[in-house]
Amino acid sequence: MIKYKKRKKGRITMKFKDFKYERPNIEAFVEEIKKLLDVIGSDVSVEKESEAIKAIFDLNDEMDSMITLVSIRNSLNTQDEFYEKEQEFFDNYIPELQQYQHIFSQKILLSKNRKELENIFGELMFKQAELAMKTFEPKIIPLLQQENKLSTEYSKLLASAKIEFEGGVYNLSQMGPFLQNLNRDIRHRAQLKVSEFFANNEEQLDRIYDEMVKVRTTIAHELGYENYVQLGYDRLGRTDYDYRDVKKYRDQIYHDLVPVVKELKARLAKRIGIENPKSYDLSLSFLTGNPTPKGDRAWQVDVAKKMYDEMSKETSEFFNFMLEKDLLDLDSIPGKAGGGYCTYIPKYRTPFIFANFNGTSHDVDVLTHEAGHAFQVYSSRDNYPSYRWPTYEAAEIHSMSMEFLAWPWIDGFFKEDTEKYKFYHLDSSISFLPYGVSVDEFQHEIYENPNMTPEERKATWRKIEKKYLPFKDYDDDKFMEKGTFWYRQGHIFSSPFYYIDYTLAQVLAFQYWVKSRENHEEAFASYLELCRLGGSKSFVELIKAVELNNPFEEGTVLKVIKPIKAYLDSVDDEKL
Ligand code: ZN
Repeated sequence: MIKYKKRKKGRITMKFKDFKYERPNIEAFVEEIKKLLDVIGSDVSVEKESEAIKAIFDLNDEMDSMITLVSIRNSLNTQDEFYEKEQEFFDNYIPELQQYQHIFSQKILLSKNRKELENIFGELMFKQAELAMKTFEPKIIPLLQQENKLSTEYSKLLASAKIEFEGGVYNLSQMGPFLQNLNRDIRHRAQLKVSEFFANNEEQLDRIYDEMVKVRTTIAHELGYENYVQLGYDRLGRTDYDYRDVKKYRDQIYHDLVPVVKELKARLAKRIGIENPKSYDLSLSFLTGNPTPKGDRAWQVDVAKKMYDEMSKETSEFFNFMLEKDLLDLDSIPGKAGGGYCTYIPKYRTPFIFANFNGTSHDVDVLTHEAGHAFQVYSSRDNYPSYRWPTYEAAEIHSMSMEFLAWPWIDGFFKEDTEKYKFYHLDSSISFLPYGVSVDEFQHEIYENPNMTPEERKATWRKIEKKYLPFKDYDDDKFMEKGTFWYRQGHIFSSPFYYIDYTLAQVLAFQYWVKSRENHEEAFASYLELCRLGGSKSFVELIKAVELNNPFEEGTVLKVIKPIKAYLDSVDDEKL
């Protein structure tokens, strides 16, 4: 493990609100970084060169800390004009910062001391630099700007949704509860209303996506790639697997998991008493309502504190640290941005968790999930900056596994709903996988055939949906039947090829579920090791290091799914 212990390890007693933000002096920063970049790759000793590299890490950490503070405070109160302005300032400045990152990569690769530097900083940093070089050239900047503009256009279009329903006006996420309503007619009409919004914007969405596919394909060609597929993988920093491995993995999901999900949907049909369930029946889980935590936010945090105190000395230290410094912001209040995330502030050596609690079981999922991310980065905070976080598919192992490692304490949150929650948690995690790989397969077909017409793209989506989600019957929803469900999946537009990461991590998190039921202490020890490794290894190397089964290897999905299916089969879900 490659550690970096520049910052003092002493206790920081400050609370989050006292973390100081000051707009960085950009000129001074640029001047300083240029001086250091001049040293790297020049005719100097390895000591001088590695000192300059570490000094660049420190400068970047300081800058990142200010960027992160602005972004957190802007999300906590989107109406705060000061942080709104600061956010704008950085949005304009960040592309320039990336340019120095590019020069840094270029220089370390050309260093005459490269071998020694690899010994000090690890080979992975150099592999990452190679990818950074392959995926960027200054000539593509205008194309990247175009790509960003299209992403913004897409998010704005979706955020503009004002859906009139049952006497109210709702945005897309506010329509969620209606789609799960116990009343079938409400669910059905709600789905049709959501579809109507997308149908009204069909032309716009087709145009935005078409332009995105074409601009990404042009970028790929400019950089010397055959098409966007490998460039997409390279942009995500994937150094040890390619589209062939991912295809093999999707095939396993198709052969070994889709039948299990089909069975689960048949059980759902029985449970909710509907013979041939339609697409609008599939988000309802129990006629008795979904499991809910039995207390408010403060109560849930108390339960979590007790859980982390008991789980291990490391989690106890971590969670109490988060509480003492007010590093969790969980309440949903007016003006706060939506969603949930975990981030890290290098200057104060602290993670930060952001969420919007709403009283559903999702609160507990978010709390344990984001705590998993936070515990990982807290455990690897002494790594070199680029090794603090792993690539996305690995990062989600930490968070999704924490959701399962919380199981021995989960009755503290759900009381009489505990069995229902456990069934729901596993059922929904498994049922997600075929959808997740559909999103991935779709994107491979799209970018391998960038000249498809919008109608061909829709037909492709529906074909893939029928393969992986054969139980999805759109009934009288003609617009969805045409192949348009993917319009709402933001990742397809804004983060190509990212989505498969959630499914890969889920298959690994399931392994912690199994391990934890066999021996919780051993499972936790392995998890802790994985957290401490952070991003110091690539995805496949990380899972090798803690001896998890590789999802790209034939047989892994089947092996992992067996004990989970056995558990679900042992539950009498009609009684839940
Ligand atoms: Zn996550």
